Amino acid sequence: MLIATEEAFAPPEYITEFLALVERQDTPVTRYLKIYYTRAESVRQLTDLDFRLAEMDRFDVSMHVLSVAAPGPQAFDAPTGSSIATLANDMLVEAIQRHPTRFAGLGAVAPQDPVRAVREVERIMGSLGLSGVIINSHTHGEYLDQEKFRPLLDACEALSAPIYLHPTFPSEVMIAPYVDYGMMGALWGFGADASLHVVRMILGGVFDRNPDLQVVLGHLGEGLPFWLDRLDNRYANILRRGGSELLGSLPLEMLPSEYFRRNFHVTTSGMNTRPALDFTLDRLGSDRVMFAIDYPYEQTQQAVEFIRSVTLPEDEMSAITQDNARRLFRLLI
Ligand code: MN
Repeated sequence: MLIATEEAFAPPEYITEFLALVERQDTPVTRYLKIYYTRAESVRQLTDLDFRLAEMDRFDVSMHVLSVAAPGPQAFDAPTGSSIATLANDMLVEAIQRHPTRFAGLGAVAPQDPVRAVREVERIMGSLGLSGVIINSHTHGEYLDQEKFRPLLDACEALSAPIYLHPTFPSEVMIAPYVDYGMMGALWGFGADASLHVVRMILGGVFDRNPDLQVVLGHLGEGLPFWLDRLDNRYANILRRGGSELLGSLPLEMLPSEYFRRNFHVTTSGMNTRPALDFTLDRLGSDRVMFAIDYPYEQTQQAVEFIRSVTLPEDEMSAITQDNARRLFRLLI
C-alpha cells in the first residue's frame, strides 16, 4: 500500500477568489499564481477528484492525504481567508465520505484570525474528523512563534493535530531578491521561507511550551536535516561566548536538533534521489519519514518509480510508505 501525504487540492471557489485577488493586486506573487491558476489543466488537477483518482489508479497509489493548495486561505484578508478555510474543509469531508479508502485530509485554517482559527481546529479534529492541519508557512509575514498564535498551537497540541507546515512564497519584506530569476516559488523561495519558519519556532521556544506538538515538513525537511549539527554548534557557540541576549528568549531546554528529532516528521515530496533519502533516514530514523508525491506540482510516475526502486528492510519501507502516515494522521485504512 502506498499512502501519499502532501497532495494538493482546491475547491473551485478558491480558484475564483484567487483570480479575483490577482485582478485586484499586482504583486510578484499574484503574477506568479496567475500563470498557474489560468491554466485549465492545473485547475482540473486541483479540483477534479475523478481525474485525480484515475492518476492514482494508473500508478497504484492507494491514498492521497489531501491539503489545500498553497498559499491557501493565508493569502487573503482574515474574513475571506476564514471563509475559504471553512469551505475547503467542508469540500474535503465530502471527498473523504465519497472515497473513504482513497482520501484523507488536513484541514485548512486562516491564522490571520487566531480566534476563529482555534475554533476551526476544533471543528477539523472534532465533527469533521480530519487528520491534522495544513498551514502554508508565514501568514502575511508573521510566523508561528509569535505570541498571538500560541492558542492555535495549544489547540493543535491538545487535540493531537499534526501541523503540516507547507511552504509558501517569501513574505513581502523578503521577496525582492527572489523575483528577478523566478526563485520565489518551489525553485528556492519555498524552502528558504519554510526552513526560516522552523528555525524561528525552535529558537523561539515553541517546543518547550508545546512539547507534544508535531510538525510535518515536505521536501525531506526543507534542507534542515543537513543543518542539524551546525545549528547545535552555532547555538552552543553563542551561549559559550556569553551572547545569550542575542538569542532573545529564555535558554532552550534542549539543543535545536533534539527538537527537530522529537517534534518533526518529513516527507519525500519532490525529493526523489537516493542519497538525500539515505541521509535523511540516517539523521531522523525511518519512523519520521513519509512518502509524498506533491501532486499536481510533481509527477506521480517519478515519485512512485523512485520509492519502488528503494531497497530497505521491509519494516522500514512499510514505515515510510504507509505505517507512519497511518499512525500520525490516525488513518482508518
Ligand atoms: Mn506541496
